[in-house]
Amino acid sequence: MTPRLADGELEEIRERNDLVALVSEYTRLKKTGKNYSGLCPFHKEKTPSFVVDSGKQLYHCFGCGEGGDVFSFVMKIESLEFPEAIQRLADRVGYKPKYQQVRAGEGRGAANKEKIYRINQLAKDFYRKSLKISLLGPL
Ligand SMILES: [Zn+2]
Repeated sequence: MTPRLADGELEEIRERNDLVALVSEYTRLKKTGKNYSGLCPFHKEKTPSFVVDSGKQLYHCFGCGEGGDVFSFVMKIESLEFPEAIQRLADRVGYKPKYQQVRAGEGRGAANKEKIYRINQLAKDFYRKSLKISLLGPL
């Protein structure tokens, strides 16, 4: 069973991790107006086209088109899955995220739904293939 992050925890972790401070661990940022800019950590460049909006807590690179928030930044730069990125950012600020208890029944219901969905997909594929064969048919 996969533990689910409690409501509001994602926002809590996002708020505790300042994007400017996080990005500064990978590339040198300079304050330009109300934003910060620097050399993009995702592609090689000589002139800075990587911009961090500290107010919105979003980044964007005008060179390679990368963009997002603290979570997508850490996922991309450390090659992490979303749950790992959450853990990494929580650890970074020494925060213990609260997880929601998933009731046994709920979990099983979801698993069944998933199974039924997969069976339907298989059936659909099977009929599609049979149909194709009968359409091409033996001459
Ligand atoms: Zn870039």
